[in-house]
Amino acid sequence: MSVIEQAEDGREALLEAVDGRECEYCDGGTVEIGTYKDNRAAVCEECGSPVVQLY
Ligand SMILES: [Zn+2]
Repeated sequence: MSVIEQAEDGREALLEAVDGRECEYCDGGTVEIGTYKDNRAAVCEECGSPVVQLY
């Protein structure tokens, strides 16, 4: 089961859990809550990678 599937009940909480974290895809980026392809997501402000995405 994926992290996203487990998050059915706590979707926003999941985004908040990674908000402000260091990005794992680039050097020095910070994860922020926003949108990715019209989905609620936690996206790196630096490289734009979606760390958590809600469908
Ligand atoms: Zn990044």
